[in-house]
Amino acid sequence: MIILVLNSGSSSLKYQLHNQETDQLLATGLVERIAIGGSIFSHKTQNHTEKGEHPFDDHAQAIDYVLKLLTHKDFGVLTSLDEINAVGHRIVHGGETYVGSVLIDEEVIANLEKISYLAPLHNPANIIGINAIRTLLPALPNVAVFDTAFHQTLPEHAYMYALPLSYYRDYGVRRYGFHGTSHLYVAKRAAKLMGKPVGGSNIITMHIGNGASACAIRNGVSVDTSMGLSPLEGLVMGTRSGDVDATVVQLLSQQLGKNSDEVLNILNKESGVLGISEQYSDRRDIEGNLDDPRCALAFDMETYRIKKYVGSYMAVLGRVDAIVFTAGVGENSGPLREKALAGLEGLGIALDTKKNMDTLGKHGETLVSAPESKVKVYVIPTNEELVIIEDTVSVVRGTYKNHMDSDYSFE
Ligand code: ADP
Repeated sequence: MIILVLNSGSSSLKYQLHNQETDQLLATGLVERIAIGGSIFSHKTQNHTEKGEHPFDDHAQAIDYVLKLLTHKDFGVLTSLDEINAVGHRIVHGGETYVGSVLIDEEVIANLEKISYLAPLHNPANIIGINAIRTLLPALPNVAVFDTAFHQTLPEHAYMYALPLSYYRDYGVRRYGFHGTSHLYVAKRAAKLMGKPVGGSNIITMHIGNGASACAIRNGVSVDTSMGLSPLEGLVMGTRSGDVDATVVQLLSQQLGKNSDEVLNILNKESGVLGISEQYSDRRDIEGNLDDPRCALAFDMETYRIKKYVGSYMAVLGRVDAIVFTAGVGENSGPLREKALAGLEGLGIALDTKKNMDTLGKHGETLVSAPESKVKVYVIPTNEELVIIEDTVSVVRGTYKNHMDSDYSFE
């Protein structure tokens, strides 16, 4: 099957075209600054790169343009759009309605609209992407793969906030968690590397990219995760604060004369290591400038927060077989992993210092713990696209099972 994977952001569109049978990436690309002026695109195939500026007033125009690139007479990878068999959409928020991936129909779109208030920055853009494809290629099946679905196994005591209960009942105020496809994928890979069934493995997964989240996985299912109602909560991230006392919002709102939306924008876009270093959200820059006390503080804060989550999830799980680091920072930064796990020998965690520092640019699955470490520590490159492709194919074929089905195969 030829699958188009779409990730529509508020002003961006990321895409990949895959031949799932041959496991071949046919094309990949990114359109930025949609509907805000100065739109740019970059499109890559195995032997051609096409880049440039092009005005896109909306996502439909951008998708239309991408489809033309895919079938271009000189560098197209398809002779006709009929060769595409299905589209897999990365959807940020599935609320409590979706515990796995689904075929998109009118009812799904109506449900996504209903829960858009839970992810006002993301879900409306996802819906625009779905509608654009449905208009341009009406015969094509569309599948929704949710960032939240993997975390729908959280027990009540882990997902509830200690607020008046009616806010959960009336408005769905609770922890949802994100990066679900990534946590699921690396947990499955780690179990495979350990030679254990993931259904019998306890794993802590740390997805540390620009956004970052931790997940406690018991017997293959998510039992706690650090992101909450939105992706703001939890770890210190590139530009997000992670955990803060909610009173910060009130105090800053008073002092700065800003409303809560504006203050939350500061917490989401101007905080994290960017806020502390006052210059960089890219962790390569942070780690390259540790002689600047602000960068050193940002690094210390980020690694300390990771350590706290590792410790608390060890308490949650009781027995931990493995800790997995993934995503841009998790996969590449030996110094971050070393500092975050330093001093945890008493909890059975010991890194092989040399192996841990040797993963930069290697992009492979690597065991970085020492032989005597009771808890194995892995670096595993995430592959959210693969999950989206596999789910899209199985949903379209009618063979899809989600991780909560009793006969779900973890392989
Ligand atoms: P996103 O959350 O945007 O998908 P990624 O998973 O691609 O992010 O991760 C982006 C982050 O990875 C950036 O902050 C980048 O600096 C960081 N990163 C990439 N390589 C390294 C490295 N060698 N050391 C530290 N951080 C790195």
